[in-house]
Amino acid sequence: MRVTETLISTLREVPAEADIVSHQLLLRSGMLRKVAAGIYTILPLGHRVLLKIEAIIREEMNRAGGIELLMPIIQPAELWQQSGRWDVYGPELFRLKDRHERSFCLGPTHEELFTELVRQEIRSYRQLPLMLYQIQNKYRDERRPRFGLLRGREFIMKDLYSFDIDENGLDASYRKMYAAYNRIFTRCGLDFRVVEADPGAIGGSDTHEFMVMADTGEAEIVFCSACDYAADVEKAPCLVESQTGPRPRPEGTRRRILSSASRTRPGLKECGVQDRAESPDAVEAVLCPVDEARLQPLQRVRTPGTRTVREVAEYLGIPAEQVLKILMYVTDDVPVAVLVRGDRSLNEIKLKNYLQTNVLEIADEEDVAGRFGLPQGFAGPVGLGGRVRLLADNEIKNLSNMVAGANEPDFHYRNVNYGRDYQVEDFADFRLAQEGDICPKCGQPLQLKRGIEIGQLFKLGTKYSKAMGANVLDENGREIPVVMGCYGIGVTRTLAAAVEQWHDQDGIIWPPSIAPYEAVIIPVGQHDSLQADLADDFCRQLTDSGIDSIYDDRSERTGVKFKDADLIGYPVRIVINKDTVTEGLVEIKWRASGAVERIPKDTAAAYLRHKLARD
Ligand code: ATP
Ligand code: MG
Repeated sequence: MRVTETLISTLREVPAEADIVSHQLLLRSGMLRKVAAGIYTILPLGHRVLLKIEAIIREEMNRAGGIELLMPIIQPAELWQQSGRWDVYGPELFRLKDRHERSFCLGPTHEELFTELVRQEIRSYRQLPLMLYQIQNKYRDERRPRFGLLRGREFIMKDLYSFDIDENGLDASYRKMYAAYNRIFTRCGLDFRVVEADPGAIGGSDTHEFMVMADTGEAEIVFCSACDYAADVEKAPCLVESQTGPRPRPEGTRRRILSSASRTRPGLKECGVQDRAESPDAVEAVLCPVDEARLQPLQRVRTPGTRTVREVAEYLGIPAEQVLKILMYVTDDVPVAVLVRGDRSLNEIKLKNYLQTNVLEIADEEDVAGRFGLPQGFAGPVGLGGRVRLLADNEIKNLSNMVAGANEPDFHYRNVNYGRDYQVEDFADFRLAQEGDICPKCGQPLQLKRGIEIGQLFKLGTKYSKAMGANVLDENGREIPVVMGCYGIGVTRTLAAAVEQWHDQDGIIWPPSIAPYEAVIIPVGQHDSLQADLADDFCRQLTDSGIDSIYDDRSERTGVKFKDADLIGYPVRIVINKDTVTEGLVEIKWRASGAVERIPKDTAAAYLRHKLARD
């Protein structure tokens, strides 16, 4: 292929519309153009990348037993009404009416259509298991379409649905997809992690997300560097120190952590130390709740204008962790108030799962005054009983002598203690995991990183088959609902995530397996027709031997071509110069490492094939 025969238009300036690097580079390298917010044209270079990612996905889906088909994008409302999602999906669903006033939507996902297909076509357990998939456009009217292809309103997804007769079958299908996803993202050259996730609105039990690690990612992940545990912060369970007892610490940090552990947990005291058999000079703190005798008398104090935890902590000269934070929510039932430690964040997903409510909205000032009858910023658990459902994070039980709102403007209480001063309906895990929390698997401190979700696996169970009546006859001739799983990959998001992960100041560094072309050939003697002919021939020779190559035949300066080559991110740049004419040597520069090699033109194809496959 010659550059002048295709459409490649690079931009020197960083487009103002692009806020993160992958978006900027995809626009600048001529792979993408915006049509409307979250809606893009993918230009020929970007399209080649897309096709390569799709080919890898297809190969691995087929290898795992997936069967490809193609469903419509427009879906009738009736199916969504049958599954119960028409009313709950919300404004993300693009809804439309035909000329007869019948309602449809543009598919944001396809559980309904696949379940309907199986309901129509599959009668007997003998026809299962079955794994059906498609690669096709999806539509979601996202509240904040941004970051180019990372969060679009129109995007390409691979979605596969598995159908089994029982949970064991589902487990087997799930394992196949889990393995296939690992192969896909490894073949795409991505550095990714698999994390435990929360099932969210789609329903179901087990679910894993595949994440590309990147600072610009919208998801937060806690992970353990001592074991393989990793989870979305929204999902990660938070253990309380006293639940785990003494735990092993990394070498060399024991003594320091021991003292800071007791200092930062106001409701716990060190009630002893414990030797560690394998390292005799190290000790572990054993923490336990402070005893009753240490509870100070309740004290009402004036705290004018201190509406936030930070303000009250600063005003009283205490750390934020000594304040009880209270958060109030409007639900589809009784209003709820939840206590978490002042320096923690509440995890709304955990709360929503606990309450099993469809509506969960943080109460605004009007709600707090109206529904709860409380002053915003000065609410607290003392004397709150009866007005709301009061819940508390597990950690609260062990805290003593805390500061909390006094339920009257400009006043707080000091020395608030659970049991003596207030009761709660229940304790549960309501807080958001954070860096330094205890790994639920091995007890080491967790780290926090950001990631981009490129794929997700869900065990749906019988949620859709029961709602829509997708039954089969089992061995005994009884009707049973099929057991389903669904497995998505954001194809366009994967493309952008690869750029977010692989770039430098000069441009993109494509992993060879998904690069638009693997090699670009640039003759340096611009007006040297001998070099031009050699470049043209060489490009054809490489292409014929299976190396995806492009010859930059534009009448631009060599420097411009080099800059474009770096920006577009071809893995290999091959220079044709006078040594090629006289000695048959070409100069190869690797985009990723910057390494330069001079090798004979005639052996170049074999050499590159070998290196590209391995790199
Ligand atoms: P997110 O939490 O990022 O909104 P999701 O969990 O709602 O994504 P799924 O329903 O799991 O998304 O869809 C499967 C895959 O489709 C996701 O893993 C992601 O890669 C991709 N995807 C979802 N929404 C978008 C979007 N707006 N733009 C591009 N890709 C998307
Ligand atoms: Mg998801």
